This record gives sequence, structure tokens and C-alpha cells, in this order.
Amino acid sequence: MKPIIGITTDVDENEKHVLNNTYVNAVIQAGGVPIIIPVGATKEVKQYATLLDGLLLTGGDDIDPTLFGEEPHQKLGEVKPSRDQIEINLFEEVLLLNKPILGICRGLQIMNIALGGDMYQDIYAQKKEDLLQHDQKVSTTHASHFVQVEQGTLLATISEAHQIKVNSCHHQAVRHVPEPLIISGRANDGIIEAIESITHPFVLGVQWHPEGLARVDDHVSKRIFKTFIQKSKEVGK
Ligand code: MN
Repeated sequence: MKPIIGITTDVDENEKHVLNNTYVNAVIQAGGVPIIIPVGATKEVKQYATLLDGLLLTGGDDIDPTLFGEEPHQKLGEVKPSRDQIEINLFEEVLLLNKPILGICRGLQIMNIALGGDMYQDIYAQKKEDLLQHDQKVSTTHASHFVQVEQGTLLATISEAHQIKVNSCHHQAVRHVPEPLIISGRANDGIIEAIESITHPFVLGVQWHPEGLARVDDHVSKRIFKTFIQKSKEVGK
């Protein structure tokens, strides 16, 4: 049996669910059976966690800063409180069951916040250093900046590299990364680009969009999804 992968989604201003099809395709390509989890299913989170073999937390808008004890910064973008809530609850329930979780962009940030970490609401306003362009002006099929991979980590095993090249579509980034998470990749300006758990079989968060690069057969991106689906098959249920 192929593993069942829950994919989180969003609701737009017209009350329509929206999900970039690239996430669905990446899961199918890697051998998973995708299930789209609606934003409003907050009371069904435990049942979803039982049903799923793995959870994919997708990218999207900004995260409500009051969830990590801060007031909204002037440069904070649009927030989706109901989406924050279901994603945090889903993450907690799936984590309790030790099932694999892949967090992409906002998904990585949700993982970090759910475990008690915090983040920059806007890296350009809140960091003093000269930063790279993290909001690239080309398609996500193009890798625009480098990430240094921390050796001995899950990301190092997946990427088989010291340095990888990724796409970048974010103005926020995680700041303090709490246990049991560790930092497994950084951009050359110090921005945290990957985190993972040292106490769970597969909990990986990436700040970039591997589902975009998988479309152009990027080796590391395809291996991220392959490993996630493989682990979901082994560990799930
Ligand atoms: Mn970046």
C-alpha cells in the first residue's frame, strides 16, 4: 500500500480552498497518496492524524505573531489565524504519533512555532546584516541562492552534499529553534533555511520550495520527497 499523505491548504478571500498543484504532483511522483486537509476541519484533527501516514505542511501567508508572544510588526503580511490553528494542531497530533512530517516554507515556520520557537516577522526590517534576496523574482523552478548543509544531519543524508542551491520566496524566517529541533541548513547570510528533529524518525522543515524544483528534476528536491514518502511508508500506521 502506498502511504497516505495529508497536505494542508488555504482559504482565499472568496472563501475558496486553494492549493498549489505542485505539492500534489510532488507527493504523487514520489509514490504517496495525497489527501487535502481543509482549513475548517479543526475538530477532526485527531482522526486525520490517525488516518495519515505522513503530513505535508505547505507554504502560504504569514503567521500570527501573537502565537509566539509578539505584537504585529509594521512589515508583517497577511495572516490566516484559522489556518495557523489547524496546522499547529495537526503538527502536534502527527508528531505525537511519531509519523513523518515535511514542512515547506511557512510549514517549517509552523513547526518551529508549535514547538515554542519564534521568528523574524520580516527579515529585512528586523535583521541588521546585509541580506541576500530571499524573495526571488523568477519562477520557483529556478534555484537562486546557496544553502550550507550541516553535516551529520538528515538533510546531509538526503542531499549528499555540503552545499546545495535552492529557490527562495520568503520575507520571514525562524529565529530561535527550540529542542528537539536543530538547524540543518543556513543561507550564506545566516538565515536559517532548514530545521529537523533529532528525536523523531522524520521531521524536516525547509524554507525553500522543493516542490517547485522537483518539477525540473532537481536531485535534492526529488530526494526530499522520496525520503519523506519512504519514511511514511515505514513509520506510518
Ligand atoms: Mn531563502
